Amino acid sequence: MRNLEELTKDARVRVRQAGPPNIEGRCIVYWMQRAQRALDNPALNVAIEAANILRKPVVAFLGLVPFYPNTNLRSYTFLVQGLRDISEGLRQKNVGFVLRRWPDHQLDRFCTQIQPCLVVGDENPMRDPERWRKVAADRLRVPLWTVDADVVVPSTLLEKEQYAARTIRPRIHALLDQFLISPGNPKARMPWQPLKKLESLSVNEDLLAGFPIDTSVQPSASFQGGTRAALSSLARFVRERLRGYETQRNHPKLDGTSQLSPYLHFGHIGPHTVALTVKNASAPPQDREAFLEQLIVRRELAINFVKFNAKYDLLQGVEPWALRTLKEHKRDERAHLYAAKQLENAETHDPLWNAAQQQMVLSGWMHGYLRMYWAKKILEWTRSPEEAYNIAIRLNDRYELDGRDPNGYTGIAWAMGGKHDRAWGPERPVYGKIRYVSSASTSRKFDSKGYIERVERLAPTGGA
Ligand SMILES: Cc1cc2nc3c(=O)[nH]c(=O)nc-3n(C[C@H](O)[C@H](O)[C@H](O)COP(=O)(O)OP(=O)(O)OC[C@H]3O[C@@H](n4cnc5c(N)ncnc54)[C@H](O)[C@@H]3O)c2cc1C
Repeated sequence: MRNLEELTKDARVRVRQAGPPNIEGRCIVYWMQRAQRALDNPALNVAIEAANILRKPVVAFLGLVPFYPNTNLRSYTFLVQGLRDISEGLRQKNVGFVLRRWPDHQLDRFCTQIQPCLVVGDENPMRDPERWRKVAADRLRVPLWTVDADVVVPSTLLEKEQYAARTIRPRIHALLDQFLISPGNPKARMPWQPLKKLESLSVNEDLLAGFPIDTSVQPSASFQGGTRAALSSLARFVRERLRGYETQRNHPKLDGTSQLSPYLHFGHIGPHTVALTVKNASAPPQDREAFLEQLIVRRELAINFVKFNAKYDLLQGVEPWALRTLKEHKRDERAHLYAAKQLENAETHDPLWNAAQQQMVLSGWMHGYLRMYWAKKILEWTRSPEEAYNIAIRLNDRYELDGRDPNGYTGIAWAMGGKHDRAWGPERPVYGKIRYVSSASTSRKFDSKGYIERVERLAPTGGA
């Protein structure tokens, strides 16, 4: 067993507020934010390990807030669907669960009531959660450690913003033997005993009733949140679609790939669980490797971009060559020009683009290959790259269940701003040296007619 000092030296652990734990404290608090699961959760594990060293119980605290940027009824419904699995999983580990919602969501208020020895949180490279962690560190009277629980290779080990997949890949691969191992599922030795006066909501309540969130985007009928749903999706993917993933993943179907991105985004499943299941599956090595490249190299490249580039959601975050070429072509004539509302309503001349937009609006998920096409055409059909960028980020964050995620900002930067890509020739109108895709060649690459028909059946009037 490690001691407390050894725990703080773990490459995943960041000490935000140093000092000795309050040994008079009642428990260890796990402040659950991004890693919303009990299974294979390195942050929860650190809390349990520290508690076992100090012979104290652990309680997980989750405070629901209505002001997380760009969230709505769709994203909150998915989050709330995951809470029952969290509560059950924590109970099996002897860990308590206190669930509160705005305006009673504050961690520091909870800590004043509970008097913990120390608080352990999880990491999230996005701007707002990072700011909340800094504020928490200032306010807490006990140490705060955060744990990089949702990556395979701890993101601090990659040190700085990486230029492209080819620069991050060897660094990640060199560390996989050390980090692509099961995080384990330790149990707290001292079971949590609920305190009489400590308020907590129940996961069985209607937690969104009267909650002041944007209700204009309906919950997804295609996705159900939670660790159990994530594990069934993973099992189904490995059984039915992993074989052939390398060649089939760019052939958009309604459900061609794993569709795990919403679960990874909410932390309902962790990357270790997915990666180890795929690594040990019986599918051909080239399919497993192609999948692990996306899940680990591409996903952690996206996290690296957001962690180390403060302009991750602005066009200015892309490379100087790309900004230059987009500027040179800013005034090029556009064959089609659409306003933000027309794009949002899928009212373009292009049935494939409209279908992709509709898939996202109706189901909360769009096939990865079409996401590239979707973003590039927004660049082509709007008045400026800046306008295109804002529209793409707004639509992606509003409708995708996996939106508001490093993958989204990086995907848009890649498709519209050549991030992690290179300059391509010949130069094209509007795109300049940004990689171009044509509607005709994209439609020919797969059964686009079949895809459009299937999306039409998703519409409420289509009877799907
Ligand atoms: C313009 C654009 C916008 C995007 N927006 C998002 C977004 O908001 N949220 C999001 O999670 N992904 C986004 N992506 C990345 C990718 O398209 C999705 O992660 C993927 O399609 C999700 O489907 P899946 O889970 O079935 O993927 P699979 O092919 O089954 O891959 C498994 C996992 O690997 C990761 N992954 C796959 N492709 C990529 C990639 N290109 N970059 C980084 N990680 C990847 C994801 O976590 C994914 O869940 C975007 C890509 C582009 C080009």
